[in-house]
Amino acid sequence: MLGLSDIASRIVQSTIRTMSVECEKVGGVNLAQGVCDTEVPAIVRQAAEAAIEAGHNQYTRADGIARLRQAIAGKLLRQNGIRADPETEIVVTSGATGGFDSACRALLNPGDEVILFEPYYGYHYATLVGQYCKPLLVSLDPPDYPLVADRLAVAITSKTRGIVVNTPANPSGKLFSQAELGQIAAIAHHHDLFLFTDEIYEHFVYDGQRHVSPASLPGIADRTVTISGFSKVYSITGWRVGYLHACARWTPAISYFHDLTYVCAPSAFQHGAAAGLEQLPASFYQGLVDEYQHKREIMCRALREAGMEPSVPAGAYYVLADASDVPGSGSVEKALNLLRLTGVASVPGEAFFQGGRGDRLLRFCFAKTETDLADACERLRRLRRASQASHR
Ligand code: PLP
Repeated sequence: MLGLSDIASRIVQSTIRTMSVECEKVGGVNLAQGVCDTEVPAIVRQAAEAAIEAGHNQYTRADGIARLRQAIAGKLLRQNGIRADPETEIVVTSGATGGFDSACRALLNPGDEVILFEPYYGYHYATLVGQYCKPLLVSLDPPDYPLVADRLAVAITSKTRGIVVNTPANPSGKLFSQAELGQIAAIAHHHDLFLFTDEIYEHFVYDGQRHVSPASLPGIADRTVTISGFSKVYSITGWRVGYLHACARWTPAISYFHDLTYVCAPSAFQHGAAAGLEQLPASFYQGLVDEYQHKREIMCRALREAGMEPSVPAGAYYVLADASDVPGSGSVEKALNLLRLTGVASVPGEAFFQGGRGDRLLRFCFAKTETDLADACERLRRLRRASQASHR
């Protein structure tokens, strides 16, 4: 009898996509999807265009062009404190998503358990489930989401094979401190676990804080797969260029699985990303921090004024806010009602939690143009005015 696979019959469409569709129907402002509306740096754009003109339009080596692997190795050493051999320890991937997927396929077995911190990024959860692995959730509590090392230690069983660390995190904005990462590294070492990092928001860190790459900690690099990419930092989510660093014992298998699904990251876009790494000055990255920190303030102020208390994020570009006062039972109803009342799309908290723990929460993305953000904030303020009017 024909039918879907066991896994496919259990999948549910991501609420992020659902909200985007609903938002389009009402012509609202979409603060649901993490798509940056900011401009692609000219250096990056022009280098990709020039690469197409110069004929870089075919498959590349499975692990990426030499120019980009070298630029990544330079960046990892300069900015992340990670020493990488560009020939054997770096794989250019189809975004961080392709990197995580391939690393899981190469290093995990069906039935393995992998620790995710909750709130988690839905793709991490779904990728693990899709590979017949079991996500084990360790919760972090708002507003600052500190690591409780005991919770992590007791969650680990004999079947646990890895820990995923997303820093700064989507959706909480949690930035893991060096001390917290040291505790995670010690636990990974003690239980002989892989550490999969997702550092895609590494450049979006606020209040003068510093991003720490777990693999830069002593003695942990060999069990760590460091994953990052260019989608967010250069506003090129559609180009699909990311990368990972792992020790040469793991990269051939990771590269093999990446090749099977994605073949390679797009050739011309690899050149664009390389030019960005080679030529963009430190002031570009500082400019991003200033711009997004400013947008974070605008977003959090508007949420407070609308009666939705935000957990102010230390990094990344999302805010989780308490939507207890928005009508609706459960986060999906709340998100739909908020869209109906204000024309602003958000993501229901249930996308990032299990067991109803996200029921009162909504996530707002502030990676928007100034104009769209101002429009969204003005619309959100109407919520308070509407509820005040209804109480009079
Ligand atoms: N990792 C996290 C935590 C994200 O939030 C996102 C996008 O929203 C991605 C990865 C996707 O990255 P990429 O476009 O490089 O696949």
